[in-house]
Amino acid sequence: MLTRTNQQNGEELSILGFGCMRFPQKGAGIDEPRAIALIRSAIDQGINYFDTAYFYHGGKSESLLGEALSGGYREKVKIATKLPPFMVNKLEGAKKIFETQCTKLKTNYFDYYLLHMLTDKATFDRMVSIGVMEWMEQLKQQGTIRNIGFSFHGGKADFEQILNAYPWDFCQIQYNYLDENNQATKSGLQMAASLGIPVIIMEPLRGGKLVNNLPEQVHKAFQGYDDKRTPAEWALRWIWNHPEVTVILSGMSDEQQLSENIAIASSATANSLSVEELAVFDRVKAIMLEKTKVPCTACAYCMPCPQGVDIPGCFAAYNDKYLLNDKRSRFKYMQTQGVLSKNPAYASLCTECGKCERHCPQNIAIRKELKQVRKEMEGPLFKPVVGVARKLLKVK
Ligand code: SF4
Ligand code: SF4
Repeated sequence: MLTRTNQQNGEELSILGFGCMRFPQKGAGIDEPRAIALIRSAIDQGINYFDTAYFYHGGKSESLLGEALSGGYREKVKIATKLPPFMVNKLEGAKKIFETQCTKLKTNYFDYYLLHMLTDKATFDRMVSIGVMEWMEQLKQQGTIRNIGFSFHGGKADFEQILNAYPWDFCQIQYNYLDENNQATKSGLQMAASLGIPVIIMEPLRGGKLVNNLPEQVHKAFQGYDDKRTPAEWALRWIWNHPEVTVILSGMSDEQQLSENIAIASSATANSLSVEELAVFDRVKAIMLEKTKVPCTACAYCMPCPQGVDIPGCFAAYNDKYLLNDKRSRFKYMQTQGVLSKNPAYASLCTECGKCERHCPQNIAIRKELKQVRKEMEGPLFKPVVGVARKLLKVK
């Protein structure tokens, strides 16, 4: 298992981290004995970074991980877990969640503690205003939290604002060869690295979509270069090729995935892909682009929209629905377009002013395409449902 150094604190982290949101299942629940054995096997083979969250597996992920790490494993690993800001309106609420997490994980400290799923800076500002950041800093001084970070699922501009708003110890972003220009983007990754902030990568395989739902031509492009390398290996090697990346999280559900990923993680060094291998990705991305509904390259020349629409983000979610046959694309659309944040960015906010279209190098009829996005990703009940949800969660 290769490691990379956390430049902030000198820790050696395994380049493969264990994402604890896809444990093996038995019926409707976690197959506990198998999940515990899988976790311990991962540790025995060199994985030392485990990422969980308050609500993964309906709240059971943290308890399972706590159980797996008892009996001498806790000290061998770094635990990362997360505070869900959308469930926190008062500091007392955050403290209560934190105590529950310590109990579930059977520990009195977290190595890495994150604000979960930020999509805009307003949510971070809200955490500051109710005292969450100050409280986390006190816990850090006491050694109860070792590193303070955030995970992110919004657009590039928000990512950069959040990155610059606080002296973060680390951050976590979605990144893979399909998302090079989506969400935090490659330039966001590079900005974090230039600030000395270690970057943890999530969704390296887009929840398996870059393995199971790829167009046939993509398989052929990969196999044309090397017919032994799986799409998962191609995808992981592409990410590890970036020196700015510290750890990739993989939500491994079985022993085979674990051993395959560990084998790749024993040789995937930074800057190791050849010019020919990188050219394979250029071909793959070209195939993907050809199959997309809207040929948006996420250049963001059309931004900012005066109404706050995240134009490239809307098109990315819409394209995924068709390109990757992604059944969760509507949920992801709602999540990434800030439906429950202070700054929503979904397609139906468009007032059709036309300002954006003048700047699009792809000559995309943005207004027309956004109408289609609205029709397919939102539907007629979207606004009333969002209105009620925002009221219930007191989002202004
Ligand atoms: S046309 Fe719509 S998306 Fe484009 S700038 Fe105007 S409001 Fe924003
Ligand atoms: S300018 Fe065009 S291609 Fe660029 S992000 Fe906007 S819609 Fe996409």
